[in-house]
Amino acid sequence: MHDHRRLGRELNLFDTDPLLGAGLPYWLPDGAAVRHTLEEYIRTAEQRAGYQHVYSPVLAKQELYELSGHWAHYSDDMFPPMDLGGEQLILRPSLCPHHAVIYRSRPHSHRELPLRMAELGGMYRSERSGVLGGLTRVRAIHLNDAHIFCTLDQVAEEAQAALEMIRRAYEALGIVATRYRLSLPGPGGKYVTAPEKWQRSTTLLTDVLDRLGLPYESAEGEAAFYGPKIDVQVTDGAGRESTLSTVQVDFHQPEQFGLRYTGADGTGHRPVMIHRSIIGSVERAVAHLVEQHGGAFPAWLAPTQLVILPVSDTELPNAVSLARRCTRLGLRTRIAGPDRGTLGARIRQARLIPYQAVIGAREAAADQTALRLRDGRRLAPQPADDVLTRIAALIATHTTDLWTDAAA
Ligand SMILES: [Zn+2]
Repeated sequence: MHDHRRLGRELNLFDTDPLLGAGLPYWLPDGAAVRHTLEEYIRTAEQRAGYQHVYSPVLAKQELYELSGHWAHYSDDMFPPMDLGGEQLILRPSLCPHHAVIYRSRPHSHRELPLRMAELGGMYRSERSGVLGGLTRVRAIHLNDAHIFCTLDQVAEEAQAALEMIRRAYEALGIVATRYRLSLPGPGGKYVTAPEKWQRSTTLLTDVLDRLGLPYESAEGEAAFYGPKIDVQVTDGAGRESTLSTVQVDFHQPEQFGLRYTGADGTGHRPVMIHRSIIGSVERAVAHLVEQHGGAFPAWLAPTQLVILPVSDTELPNAVSLARRCTRLGLRTRIAGPDRGTLGARIRQARLIPYQAVIGAREAAADQTALRLRDGRRLAPQPADDVLTRIAALIATHTTDLWTDAAA
């Protein structure tokens, strides 16, 4: 595997600047295209799975995090408060308290549950400057987050559905899960004390893992401060393991925020809160994708999906016309003309781009395209529109396949 920091710079995906500060990377156009596509994939998957999206601010009063428990259990990782006319404001360390407040703002009936609230939002962590680097250790994080407010009876099914979403996303992204980890509290004072709730949450998560037949290992000292979690672990280029996706069961925050729903019996009940993330933070997810694929992203994610290679200047107008048709189909494309070197050199430069369309005199005259695939396959010249329609159809399915055998 590769180092995403080196490749990210080489491929013009992201960079940092001392004037912006350590751990605060910015995204260049090609990196932004990958990130935007990834975010859209997640939003669509969530929408189809019955999630509703919200937006909430990235800072809030200190009282919010005192209520949630973050201030007592997590303040070492938080930025110091900003005093504003006597009010203490904090860059948020997580989205959970905001979603609890949004849930609490409206009355809820048992008929609305499970209520699935999602947001891809910013959060901040005061990492020490010595450990910062690339996209994996950052101070500004954009988390693919969601909270499911549900009854106790619905927890297993919702947690299972979340793990299923994670499996599908990994398949589309070409990510391999190293292992599943059941993260439990360890010794020390960083966890809320409620032994009965911890036990109940742990049993629920264990049942889900067993039901899905997923092998897992238990890890003490890795739980969130409010409850146990299932972590999906991946391994980076240097062999280091980290958590990408997670599903957590929480009885603590619903209690702290006094969350309620009206049951079938007409009285108030306490919902359970499931925290879940499909790809974790977009920073960590893109870092992992860069390392996993060495920059050769699945076609649907690639910053440039199709490069057009006119053999000589004579075919340049045909290349421009083809590029226009690509854009109409939503394909990200660019032209690499003869000013960029010989055809062989241009093909080598474009080796990470999934599709390379070569246009010589013969193809130009017949409005055909001789397609080369990144994996070395070369297809016979075909009508240009057929080729583009086929590529667009493959990309729409979020597959890691460049071309299906039936089509080749
Ligand atoms: Zn949460």
